[in-house]
Amino acid sequence: MARAQAPAGLRWIDAGSGEERASLSLVRSPPLRWSDDAPLPEEEGAFRLLWAEGDAPPEGLVLAAEAPDGRPLDQLEINVFRPHPCPAGAPAGRRCVASLPVRLAMDLDDRMHPAAAERSLLATLGGQVVVSRKKQRLLSAPVLAPRGGLWQSKIRVFLVRERPQGPPPFGFTDGTAEALTRAQIRRANAVWGQCGVSFGPPEAAEVKIVDPPSSALLAFGCGAAFRASGGRLSFRIEGREVAIALSPGQSAASVARRAASAIEKMGFRAVLSENLRTGAAAAPSVDLMARRRDGALLSFSSLASSDATLGVCLGSVDLSDGLQHFTDVDAVAGTLEERTLLRSVDDGDPRTIEVVLIPSFATGGRIGESFIHSDRGSLRNMILEDRAGIRADAVSFALAHELGHVLLDVPGHSDDFGRDTPGRLMDSDAADPSPFGPRRLTLAECDRALRQSGPSAAAPLLSPAAPPGRTASPRRR
Ligand SMILES: [Zn+2]
Repeated sequence: MARAQAPAGLRWIDAGSGEERASLSLVRSPPLRWSDDAPLPEEEGAFRLLWAEGDAPPEGLVLAAEAPDGRPLDQLEINVFRPHPCPAGAPAGRRCVASLPVRLAMDLDDRMHPAAAERSLLATLGGQVVVSRKKQRLLSAPVLAPRGGLWQSKIRVFLVRERPQGPPPFGFTDGTAEALTRAQIRRANAVWGQCGVSFGPPEAAEVKIVDPPSSALLAFGCGAAFRASGGRLSFRIEGREVAIALSPGQSAASVARRAASAIEKMGFRAVLSENLRTGAAAAPSVDLMARRRDGALLSFSSLASSDATLGVCLGSVDLSDGLQHFTDVDAVAGTLEERTLLRSVDDGDPRTIEVVLIPSFATGGRIGESFIHSDRGSLRNMILEDRAGIRADAVSFALAHELGHVLLDVPGHSDDFGRDTPGRLMDSDAADPSPFGPRRLTLAECDRALRQSGPSAAAPLLSPAAPPGRTASPRRR
C-alpha cells in the first residue's frame, strides 16, 4: 500500500464538468439529498476528490477547511468513493474513483442541513481546503471565485439617527446597532463569497453613527425648474449672508454656479451636483452643498427669494416620520430628502459603495433601495436600507441583495419575467431563512458583476485582492 499513499494520484475535479480544478469555490446551489439511483440536478460549484491511481484510494482521508488565517473551520471524513471516468491523459486501462460531490457551504445553515450534511464543509473565501491522512497533508486548494481570483469591494456604512443626538436607527444602544451592522456585513460576505467577492473583514469596516443632516442642501430649480424671471435670492451660511441678483432667463444651473462661487469666496468648499431631469420638470435641477475645509457639512438658513419662477428649496432630513422615498416620477433624481441624506455621506469616489441605514421609509412595503450606475443619475453606488431590512436578516438577505443591484448594475429582479426564483439572491420577494431561501448567485451573475463592476468597468467597484499570505500570518493551532 505504500505506493497508494502517494499524493500524486489525488486531484480536485469539478462535480459537473469533471475538469480538474486548481482552486475551489463556495457552492451556489441549495443542499439536495444524494442518491446513487437518481442523478442530482447540477450543483453549481460542487467538486469531487478524484483518485486516479487504481481501484481504491488510501483509507482515512480527511477533508478540512481553514480560514484565511489558517484557523480550522470544519472537517469531513471522505470514505465513499464511486467509479469515475479518468482524466484526459491517464494511461489506458487505468481505473479511477471519485468521492461524492462535496459542497463548500457559506454558513452553518447551509452546512448543517440534513439533506447534504454528510458531504458539506463550512468554508470561507480566501481560506483553503486540505486533504490529509493521519495528519499528513496530501493536497490543498484555495477557496476563490468560481473562475479563480479574489475580489474586494469597499463599503462605507452610515447609521442615521432619527433626530440629532437621538437613538440609533435600530438596536437599543450605539454598541448593539454597530454589532448588528457588522453581522450584516459578515452575512453579505458569506453570500457574495459565492462569486469570490468580499467587503472586507466586518470588524474593520467603516461604520459611523451620524445625525440626520439639517438644512444642508439647496436645490436650485426644485419642482419644475423654470428659468428665473428676475429678483433677489439670499441665504445665510455660518451666520454670513449670501445675496445674488437674478436676471430674467437665467437657468437654475447658472444661479447655482453663482451661489457656489460666492460660498468658495467665503473660504468654504461648495459641491454642485446636477440631477437628472424628472418627468415633470423643464430642466434638470442642481443641488448645492457647502462644507468646511475639513469636510464638515454646513447648514443654510434664512433662505429668501423674490424671483417668481425659479424655485430654490432647502433640503433637510427628518426621520421621525420616515424617509420620503422616490416614486416613479422622481426615481431618476431621488426626493429632496433622499438627496440631502445621500449627498451628505457621498465621498464622490466612484469606487466605493455607501450604505445608509435609516429607521424607516415613510411608507411601508419597502426595506431597501439602491442607486446604481446605469441609472445615470448623480447619486450612484448608494444603498438605503431600513431597520425592517436589518430585522429580516437571513430571511431576505437585504444588504447582500441591495449590493447585488449595485454590483450587477441592474434595477430588476431574477423573477421579473414570470418565473419564480425563490432561491436566488436577486429574487424580488422571497422570504425564507433556510438554505433554500434567497441567497444563491449564479455563475452568470458572478460574471456580470465582474463585467459591470470589475477593474475595467466604468464604475470599478471590484478590485483584485491578493490571496491572504500564509507565510505572513502564523498558523494558529
Ligand atoms: Zn431589489
